[in-house]
Amino acid sequence: MNELDSEIMVGQLEKRGLTRTHEEGDADLLIFNTCSIRDLAERKVMGKLGQLGRHSKKKSIIGVTGCMAMAKKDSLFRKLPHVNFVIGTNNITDLNTVLDEVLQTGQQTIRTDDQFEENLDYLVAKRDDPVKAYVSIIRGCDKFCTYCVVPYTRGQEVSRPPESIVEECKLLVEKGYKEVTLLGQNVNSYGKDQPEWNCYFHDLLYKLDKIPGLERIRFMTSHPVDITEELMYAIRDLPSVCEFVHFPLQAGSDRILRKMHRIYTVEKYLEKVALLKKIVPNASLGTDIIVGFPTETEEEFLETYNLFKEINYSVAFIFAYSQRKGTPAMRWRDDIPEEVKQERLQRLLQLHQGQVEEQRQALLGSTLEVLVEKYNKEDNVLKARTRCWKNVVIPGDASLVGTLQKAKIHGYSHQTLLAEICKDNKLSLSL
Ligand code: SF4
Repeated sequence: MNELDSEIMVGQLEKRGLTRTHEEGDADLLIFNTCSIRDLAERKVMGKLGQLGRHSKKKSIIGVTGCMAMAKKDSLFRKLPHVNFVIGTNNITDLNTVLDEVLQTGQQTIRTDDQFEENLDYLVAKRDDPVKAYVSIIRGCDKFCTYCVVPYTRGQEVSRPPESIVEECKLLVEKGYKEVTLLGQNVNSYGKDQPEWNCYFHDLLYKLDKIPGLERIRFMTSHPVDITEELMYAIRDLPSVCEFVHFPLQAGSDRILRKMHRIYTVEKYLEKVALLKKIVPNASLGTDIIVGFPTETEEEFLETYNLFKEINYSVAFIFAYSQRKGTPAMRWRDDIPEEVKQERLQRLLQLHQGQVEEQRQALLGSTLEVLVEKYNKEDNVLKARTRCWKNVVIPGDASLVGTLQKAKIHGYSHQTLLAEICKDNKLSLSL
C-alpha cells in the first residue's frame, strides 16, 4: 500500500511540474513515505532523518508521510526540527496544498486525519512498472490484532466504489498493463462497510474478470476469517484470478492466537485451508508468522512449526515479534529473549527453505504459464512469474516483456526456477 501511495504522490508532484530524481543530493524536496509495522523500519527512517538534519548542506524541503507520520504526528517536529511537513496515511490528497503552505509560510505543517475519505485521485499514480500495477480497493482495518499498529495508523476500513476500481483497471489495460494486484489491509472485507453497494470481494472479482485484456488479478492481503467459500469459487472459476492466496496464520497455538486477537482457532483455520484445497486443488498458499510473541513457550512454538510444516506454504514472511507503541500487546512484557526469537525464526526459515526447494524440484519438467515482467540487460534474461507467484528466469529478449508464455522448467537456483520458452507444449500445471 505504501508503494502505491508513493506512486500517487509522485504523480501529484509531477502534475505540478516537479521532476523525480533518484539522487538524494539533487533533490529540492525529499519525502520519506514510512512504514511502522516493524520497529526496525522506524529506527532506520529516524536515523536517516537525523543524519539529514546534521549533515545536509543542501536546504531541501523534507516531508514525512505514511504510517510513522500517523503514529508520531507532531512529536516528529520536536525530535527533528528540520522536518517541514508531516502527512498521515489518510491525507495523501493534501500533498500539494501542504507543500504550498510550507513554501508560502515557511512554517512546519501537519495533516493527520483519523479517517480516510475516498477522494483520492488514483489515476494520477506514476508507475515505474509497465506490466503490473497495484490497485487500492479498501483502506484501513477493523480487526485490531493486539500486536498490530495498522488500525491506529490507517484507521477504519473504507472501501472504494466498485465503478472507480473497474474504471482504473480498464484504463490500466488500455495503457498496456497485464496484471493488477488488488490492495487492502484486508481485501476480503471489501464492501462490508458499504452493504448498500451489495458488492463484496468476490463480486468485485467477477466484475474485474470481465475486463478484456486483463490477464491476471492478484490480491493481498487477507484475514483467514474473511476468506469465504464464494471467494474460493471465484478463484476456481475466473480465468484471470490467480490461484495464490495469502492466508496469514501468525501462530499455530490457540492460546497465542487468542492473545493475538486473531479471532480464529487452529481448527477453524485448517478447515478453511482444507475447503480451499478441495475447491481449488492447485492453489498455493502464502503466510505470515510471528515468532516470540509474549509468553510463547517452546511447545507453542513447536505447534506453529508443525502446522507450518503440514501446510507447506509456497511463500512465507516470518518475523520475530517486536513491540509497537500504541498496540494492546504493549501491556505485556516482551519476555522472550532476542536469541530465543532469532533461534525460532531461523528454524522456521530453514524449514521453509527446504520445503520451497522440494516444491521447485517437483516442478522440474513441467510447463507453466508465466507472465514476463522484466528484461534484465546485464544477464540478458527475462524475469517472469507463474500464476502462483513463483519466480522464473528464462532466456529471451526485451520484446517479450508483458507477454504470457509457456515456460518449460528445467532447473532451479536458490531464488528462482529456471526455464526455456516452449512454443508447442501444452501447460501441464497451472501453478
Ligand atoms: S488484520 Fe492485519 S492489518 Fe488488521 S490488525 Fe490484524 S495484522 Fe493488522
